[in-house]
Amino acid sequence: MPLSNPEELSARSAELEAASPVEILRFALATWPGIAISSAFGVEDCAIIDLACGIVSGASLHVFSIDTDFLFPETHALKARMEERYGIRVKVWKGSVTKEEQDATHGERLYERSTDQCCAIRKIEPIGRALESVDAWVTGMRRDQGPSRAGIQILERYDHQDGSPLIKVNPLARWTHKDTWAHVMKHEVPYNPLFDQGYKSIGCWPCSKPVDADADERAGRWGGQKAECGIHTFMIRKDPSGPPSA
Ligand code: SF4
Repeated sequence: MPLSNPEELSARSAELEAASPVEILRFALATWPGIAISSAFGVEDCAIIDLACGIVSGASLHVFSIDTDFLFPETHALKARMEERYGIRVKVWKGSVTKEEQDATHGERLYERSTDQCCAIRKIEPIGRALESVDAWVTGMRRDQGPSRAGIQILERYDHQDGSPLIKVNPLARWTHKDTWAHVMKHEVPYNPLFDQGYKSIGCWPCSKPVDADADERAGRWGGQKAECGIHTFMIRKDPSGPPSA
């Protein structure tokens, strides 16, 4: 696979620190044919789709999403708006355990007793399958989203289960919250209306709450018990640059 050696990748990542998100995306789209954009339809994900569709056609993009069965109706509606506006077709992955099977095995509202177990079943298991055939994985993570993301690199090397390389691409790593919203507003990118109701980070409805204007961006997630669901931390980084992303 092109550019998968951890040292070479780390050096290229350092060079891309001076590049804009669109330049990073252009490089990544040209480098790894098996590239995919993951989207939970947060404001960063919508900005990335907008940027990528300025480089290639929406129809040629591989965009995927995880449906946990606990998404807000507004998130489903936003997915439909993004598909219509950009001509993308979002591949939706669900956990192999249905919500009904989860309720029967673990009881209803598992998220009230173990968010780790619920996230493992509804998010981490399906994203593991979604990534199996992916060479490079584009995410919307930013360094200023909090301590758990402060150490992300623009290009990171992980391994699939079989040891083959998986490159994570973080085009917005250097962007701030303000940068992201400035792009979205300037280009009239669709965004989740819940952001106008006090939410700063939107995932599953049981685990996302509105917060005060001065609260940390991810403070409304999981009642402040944790900052990550696990999809960005269940694999071990192999590249030598910077601290691990979790
Ligand atoms: S975010 Fe909450 S509802 Fe969604 S999978 Fe995790 S624990 Fe379950």
